[in-house]
Amino acid sequence: MRQIGGKYYSRKGLSIKQKVTIWYACMLVLIVLLLFGFILTISRNLLQRESDSRLEKIVLDFIDDIDFEYNWYELDDDIRFYEDGVIFSLYDEQGRLTAGSVPTNFPADTVLKAYSFQTFSTAGHNWSVYDAALPYGDGKILWIRGILQTETLFSVERTMFLVLLVACPLLIALALLVGYSITRRAFLPIQEIRRTAETIGAGSDLSARISTERTQGEIRQLAETFNEMFERLETSFEHERQFTSDASHELRTPVAVIISQAEYALLPDATAEEQREGLAVILEQAGKMSTLISQLLLLARADNGTQQLSMVSTDLSLLAEEAAEQCRGSALQRQIRLELEIQPDVIVEGDPESLSRVIRNLLENAIQYGRTGGFVKLTLAVREDAAVCSVQDDGIGISAEDLPRIWQRFYRADPSRNPSGSNTGLGLALVKWIVEAHHGPISAESTPGQGSCFTFRLPLHQEAP
Ligand code: ADP
Repeated sequence: MRQIGGKYYSRKGLSIKQKVTIWYACMLVLIVLLLFGFILTISRNLLQRESDSRLEKIVLDFIDDIDFEYNWYELDDDIRFYEDGVIFSLYDEQGRLTAGSVPTNFPADTVLKAYSFQTFSTAGHNWSVYDAALPYGDGKILWIRGILQTETLFSVERTMFLVLLVACPLLIALALLVGYSITRRAFLPIQEIRRTAETIGAGSDLSARISTERTQGEIRQLAETFNEMFERLETSFEHERQFTSDASHELRTPVAVIISQAEYALLPDATAEEQREGLAVILEQAGKMSTLISQLLLLARADNGTQQLSMVSTDLSLLAEEAAEQCRGSALQRQIRLELEIQPDVIVEGDPESLSRVIRNLLENAIQYGRTGGFVKLTLAVREDAAVCSVQDDGIGISAEDLPRIWQRFYRADPSRNPSGSNTGLGLALVKWIVEAHHGPISAESTPGQGSCFTFRLPLHQEAP
């Protein structure tokens, strides 16, 4: 199916509306024809039966006007051989015409059949015949034949046929007209769906929706399904737009710092000490950019499903201890006690590098947002056939309003808590993606001012049987 000038055409070139209308009209005409045929057959049978019984009665009445003696018969004086459209002819047992007449054009070879009806047509005439056989004397038979020319009977049929001939084209025209207008009305919501999809496709208005007020049934369901899809598209576009804008904003800041530091260091009167300081700042900013870029790359790969995780049997206990060791320095700096409660030999199936990143990230956050002089506790244990790892702190905590948003990319609950600007706001988004890619849930509980606890679960490594 393709679309030309707002109409949907099937491959043969007819629009769906036209096709539906033609089908509709054809069906209607077929039904009318069948109905006409049915009525015609019934009426023909009824008329025939009525005409037969009339013919029979007239013939029997005629017989009353004949007086039979032993070996001969006598016709009444006032007998008439034409009665009520019926012509009478009398034959002897040899089939010879003895009285009455036979209409011209009536086939002379019509056999005599006692007490039965015969109906046939000859050149433009229709005949109904009824024969009565009256035995008398010694084996003699008087045949009385009543002949009815049934022009009238067939004229009814002809009239009906003429009516049909005139009515049929009118009916087709009416069916096409009414059918087309009904289909057009029925297809109006579909046109609206198309127009809205076009508007969204052109990117001019992502908030456009199909109105479902006047639609019902399947079309309403279709419109609602499209609206849901448009909703998701809009959200996804919005996320994409936000992500691109955030990413460029995050990259612009270190780039601006690097440029200004380089310009400062290149000033003719810059001392060697100032140049060294400038270079140190440039190095720090470049490092920040490198982290951000690698995080962005990882998220982009995660989004389009190209981020590879090498799933191997991994000792999570070992990874947790190593990660804690790597964070010990920064904990010490912030005078935070690092407590470990790690069950040994907790083996999961996963990507060691990514899992190590998860634990490090949670620990770094707990230390950064922890309380000076407070604690950070890393716990790892097997519970209900799963490895459960949690990182708890007694720091600033997260408000109930912020809690659901911390997993969003670039979301930082309180940017003022990060004066160095070293945080990207991508850490937890990555952590969530990694844990979920390992078929595990992750959650956070927090009370502002009292601390937070991040917990994730991973399925244990199953030994091959
Ligand atoms: P960031 O680079 O800012 O740490 P994350 O994605 O790791 O980015 O965290 C997002 C936000 O969640 C942080 O900016 C912080 O506001 C909040 N957050 C994360 N961990 C904790 C924690 N342990 N205590 C309090 N707030 C936290």
